[in-house]
Amino acid sequence: MIIILKAGVTEVAAKQLLAQIEALGLKPLYMPGVERTVLGAIGDERVLQSLHLDSNPIVDEIKPILSKYKLVSREINPVDTHVMLGNHAVGGERFTVIAGPCGVESREQLLSVAKMVNGQGVAALRGGAFKPRTSPYSFQGLGEAGLKLLKEANQLTGLPTVSEVIDANDVELMANYIDCFQIGARNMQNFRLLEAVGRLRLPVLLKRGMSATVEELLLAAEYIVNAGNPNVILCERGIRTFETATRNTLDLNAVAYLKRKTHLPVLVDPSHGTGVRELIAPLSFAAAAVGADGIIVESHLKPCEALSDGHQALDAEQFSTLMDGLRPFVHAAGKQL
Ligand code: PEP
Ligand code: MN
Repeated sequence: MIIILKAGVTEVAAKQLLAQIEALGLKPLYMPGVERTVLGAIGDERVLQSLHLDSNPIVDEIKPILSKYKLVSREINPVDTHVMLGNHAVGGERFTVIAGPCGVESREQLLSVAKMVNGQGVAALRGGAFKPRTSPYSFQGLGEAGLKLLKEANQLTGLPTVSEVIDANDVELMANYIDCFQIGARNMQNFRLLEAVGRLRLPVLLKRGMSATVEELLLAAEYIVNAGNPNVILCERGIRTFETATRNTLDLNAVAYLKRKTHLPVLVDPSHGTGVRELIAPLSFAAAAVGADGIIVESHLKPCEALSDGHQALDAEQFSTLMDGLRPFVHAAGKQL
């Protein structure tokens, strides 16, 4: 329930009402605005009847939250959320570009990609230390050794790092080394993992499951925010359809839809979304045009030597061509690169 208070209601009076809401077992939200304060009550709204809100003199209006997701919805918070990666605000004025290899493979490999993308307007460096691979015989990542390399790359370049967490037991360990968790498509509905990253404040890049609906993505984000972590970035990374020409079908409908329904930032992953190197630039341009807050792009100094996803990684020249081509689209969409 959204409870809009009358203009001029004091903080003390607002917090008294909030305490009554909390005492009924609902999650209380306090949202002071310039003109008036809005309260939120999340949970079984029927218990609110005992408070007789409609006749409370400090209450102006009561509105039910119609969507299944509450905390991440624009109904409860119409203002865009900014998630900080270092001093870069994802969801703010600047279009976010996160780049780096699919997996951390070696010191030389990671540092060479970090240097390659640094200074090109990139906000963060990506690289998986724990890789969720379809085959148990494929490269699984370097584990903690990979996390240490990510920390070294961060210290060398100043770039915040993003890395995938695949096990709730790794959350605390990873938080010592990286600046943003990635929850991959295969784990979007691993609810214990969502709650585990929700207990920290470290940003979470939550990717859409390959067969998940947009509502399921939003409810997965709701798990993280409900557990206490508001720093969630959504990511459209392509879904499975009948189409086989590309690795996935990048659902840009979802991006436009999400931007209307949620205050959380929305990124696009054209690398996994297409699986085709040549399609990454045009789909990045489309992502900017449709209103995405940024992109996450796989890149590698020597894509042909990559241990995973080399076919969809951009080399140095392709990456700088992408950034140059992206600029006019970002500007046309009213953001800066
Ligand atoms: C990745 O980013 O390397 C990855 C495994 O992505 P996804 O979870 O979207 O497949
Ligand atoms: Mn990958």
